Amino acid sequence: MTVEALNPAGIVPLDHILPDEPLLMMGAGPVPIPHRVAEANSIVINHLGETMSRVIEQVKAMARYVFQTTSGHVMGVAGPGSAAMEMAVCNLVAPGTPVLSVVNGYFSRRLAEMSTRVGGQVTRYEISELRCATPEELGELFAKGRFEVMTIVQGETSNTVCNKRLQEIARIARAHGCLIVVDAVCTLSTMPLQMDDWGIDAVITGGQKGLSSIPGVSLLAFSDRAWDRISARTDLLSHWCLDAKLADNFWNQKSYHYTAPVSGILALHEALHLVCEETLTQRFLRHRHCSEALQAAIEAMGLQLFVAPESRLNSVIGISVPQTVSADTVRQHMSHVHHVEISGAFGHNILRIGQMGEQSREYNLFRTLHAFGSSMRSCGAELDLPAGMAELEHCLSETAQLRVPNKRARVA
Ligand SMILES: *Cc1c(COP(=O)(O)O)cnc(C)c1O
Repeated sequence: MTVEALNPAGIVPLDHILPDEPLLMMGAGPVPIPHRVAEANSIVINHLGETMSRVIEQVKAMARYVFQTTSGHVMGVAGPGSAAMEMAVCNLVAPGTPVLSVVNGYFSRRLAEMSTRVGGQVTRYEISELRCATPEELGELFAKGRFEVMTIVQGETSNTVCNKRLQEIARIARAHGCLIVVDAVCTLSTMPLQMDDWGIDAVITGGQKGLSSIPGVSLLAFSDRAWDRISARTDLLSHWCLDAKLADNFWNQKSYHYTAPVSGILALHEALHLVCEETLTQRFLRHRHCSEALQAAIEAMGLQLFVAPESRLNSVIGISVPQTVSADTVRQHMSHVHHVEISGAFGHNILRIGQMGEQSREYNLFRTLHAFGSSMRSCGAELDLPAGMAELEHCLSETAQLRVPNKRARVA
C-alpha cells in the first residue's frame, strides 16, 4: 500500500452518488427534516461550553413537554433509537431481574432480546396475531407472575400494530409495583402519550421518526421511581456509554461523559422547538387527519390495509400487497420514476408508508399516493387511482379547517 495517493479507482465525489433530486422519504424512517433542523445540524460548537449548557437546558425543557413529564431525568444519547432502548433496559434490568416483555412485532422483540442480554429473567408474552395487547390479558399475567420491569412498544413500526390501550396496561403494571418501559420511537409527538399521567417509568424515542430530526441522536426520560432504582444499583453496568448515572454528568451536571454529538443535539433542539411552536394538540390532529385520509384513499383505490382499525397504527401505514404483485418492484418503480421512497417489511408481504413528522403534510400525501397508485398499477395491481386521489382530496378538505397551517415548515 502506498502513502502517496489513495488508489482513485472507483472513488467518485459524493455529488455523483447522490440523486439529482432529493428523494421524498415516505418510508418507516428516516423522514424528511425541516430546513431549520438541517441548518442546525451543520454547526459544531464546544460540547462543554456555556452555549451548549443553554442548549441542553432548552432541549430538556422542550423534551419534558413532548414526553409530558416533569421528570428531572431526561437525557439524550449519541446513537440510534436502539441505543436509547438499550440504555433504558440496561439501567433498569440487572442480572436476575424478572422482566415481562410484551412482544407483538420486531421492535418489541428487540426489547426482550436486550433484556435477555443484560441478564434479565425475561418472560416473553408473544402476541402472534396482528392485534394490540389488552389490559385483560396483562392483568392475568401479573396475577400469575411477579415482574419488576415490563417492556412494551407504543407503535410496532414493523407490522403497523398500535398498543392503543397502553394507559390501562401501564396502570395494571404499576399496581403490581412493576416499572414500565415504553418504546415510543415512531409515535412520540405523532399521537398522545402522557408519561406522568399514565405512570410510565421510561420513554424512549429516536430522532429520525416522529420528531423529524436526524438519525443518530436519541432521547429518553426516566421517572423518579426509575431513577431511584438506578441510583440504588451498586453493580457496575457492562455498558459504559449507556450508563445513565454517567450520562447524568453531562445532561444534568454540566460535566463530561463523552463528547456529545453537538450538531445532532442542535438539530434536535430545532425539531423540538418546531413541535412546541405547533403544540402537541395540533400536531396530533395533523398526524391523525393526514394518516386517516391516506388510509381511506388507499382503501378507496381498492387495496387493503394490513391491520384492523382497533389495532391499527397511524404513524406508519401497512398496506397488503396483492399476491400477483412484487412489493420490491413497486418500491423500485416508485423510487426511480417518482423519486418517492416507501418501505417494505420484515417478513410480511406489505408496503409501509410513514406518517411521521414532515411526512404528514398534505403536499406529500398527494405526491405519495399518486406515485404509489401508479407504481402499483404499473406492476400489475388492479386499482382505481382516480378514486383514491378523489378520496384523499375529500378527506383532507373535510378536516382542513380544524388545522392550523404550519407556516414554518420548509423541508430540506
Ligand atoms: C425505528 C424503531 C426503532 C429502532 O430505531 P433505530 O434508530 O433504527 O435504532 C425502535 N423501535 C421502534 C418502534 C421503531 O420504530
